[in-house]
Amino acid sequence: MRIHDEVKRMDAQIIQVNPITWRIEDGGVRFFLLTGTEKALLIDSGMTVQNAKEIAESLTSLPVSLLNTHADRDHTGSNEEFETFYMHPAEEPVYRRSGKAGTILPVREGDIIDLGERELKIIELPGHTPGSIALLDAAGRVLISGDPIQRHGRIFMFGPHRDMRAYIRSLEQLEKRKAEFDEIWPSHADFPISTDTIRMLHDGAQEILAGKVTGKPEEMHGSRITAYDLGFCVKLCDQEL
Ligand SMILES: [Zn+2]
Repeated sequence: MRIHDEVKRMDAQIIQVNPITWRIEDGGVRFFLLTGTEKALLIDSGMTVQNAKEIAESLTSLPVSLLNTHADRDHTGSNEEFETFYMHPAEEPVYRRSGKAGTILPVREGDIIDLGERELKIIELPGHTPGSIALLDAAGRVLISGDPIQRHGRIFMFGPHRDMRAYIRSLEQLEKRKAEFDEIWPSHADFPISTDTIRMLHDGAQEILAGKVTGKPEEMHGSRITAYDLGFCVKLCDQEL
């Protein structure tokens, strides 16, 4: 009970998605706990909570590991509860710049994390960050997408480690694999979302690059950026594309 009280105080909300999956809503970002028959996996560690591992251990008695979809701060809030964690190696510079410790267990395209009768396959989606990854739960027919795919969210595509062209290529590759999952579980905004979002984001990004969408200037984290409202989501981009 103590843990749940604490979670409530942090404004995080724990929602059971199915008997082997929870989503934790943490002030605008969402992270997940998945269990198999032998292990449990946290997918990201929250933004405001500092006790994602403790939350996970209140929900399962299985040993809990951590995987980060990428290294942005809103996904790594409780990383220091773990000595090791899965992450794409291309995220390491951004992760270390935020002063965080721990040993990265590198994961790449096609790697499988087996929780015991529940296999999760890594899909690389560079663009939002160089080492952004999604997880495919093939048996559950779900893609856990991290930040690159969102509906009614604001996708951050400005700053030195973002790459719109790589992002478009990632969506193109993912579009070809759409038959492998029925829904997408993103880290922000609507949950769950439909697979046609991939195509919509792809087309929207291309239209932005082609100058067909009018953006609005904004200031974010001290940067002057351009916000492109596509109706189903907003893309926040550098002023120079
Ligand atoms: Zn995020």
